[in-house]
Amino acid sequence: MSKSALGKHYREGTSLTGIFKMFPDSETAEAWFAKQRWGNSPVCPECGLANVQTNCKHPTIPYRCREKECAKQFSVKTGTFMQGSKLDYQVWVIAMYLMVTGIKGVSSMKLHRDLEITRKSAWHLAHRIREGLVSGDNPFSGPVEVDETFIGRKRKNMSNQKRKELEGTGRGAVGKIALVGVKDRETNEVKAKVVDGTDARTLQPFVSENVDGQATVYI
Ligand SMILES: [Zn+2]
Repeated sequence: MSKSALGKHYREGTSLTGIFKMFPDSETAEAWFAKQRWGNSPVCPECGLANVQTNCKHPTIPYRCREKECAKQFSVKTGTFMQGSKLDYQVWVIAMYLMVTGIKGVSSMKLHRDLEITRKSAWHLAHRIREGLVSGDNPFSGPVEVDETFIGRKRKNMSNQKRKELEGTGRGAVGKIALVGVKDRETNEVKAKVVDGTDARTLQPFVSENVDGQATVYI
């Protein structure tokens, strides 16, 4: 994953306050989503071309495709799991953080209380994020990176006995959530999923589902 991917920060143990510093408002979160999706140059979700006008005056739809036959107006939400949502980008990023760091999963009631959004919004948010984490619309075909990260307790915070049990088993992931991601090196697009373990048997189906058979895979 790229340096700014959430996974990297989890690995370094970003706290909730750290996340708020990283995303103090909706604008910083929006910029982060745009960078994750497109790198430095937005691509039209309709025609796939990078001839895009940025900074349009519209309050929530800042991009417009310059291709005459297309002229699609879009935001970084368009064509993603955030499509059609009125919730701001900071709410989305904090909800994603809460959901992937919640060891036993996070209820939509908790999102409703913590994010001060309606119960209905919270339910949709949780549902969309879960779906987004396993999205497999188009398999990646460019050079692809596979990365995994663990969220939760570090080994050094476990009891000695627990550590002993795990020694030599290669199972550092007990009590943690493992997140596997694939990134297309050409488009910078990332797909991630919460998985039960990081052994080849668990990872392989996710990788083959999301990566074209011809693609070069870096692990
Ligand atoms: Zn277009």
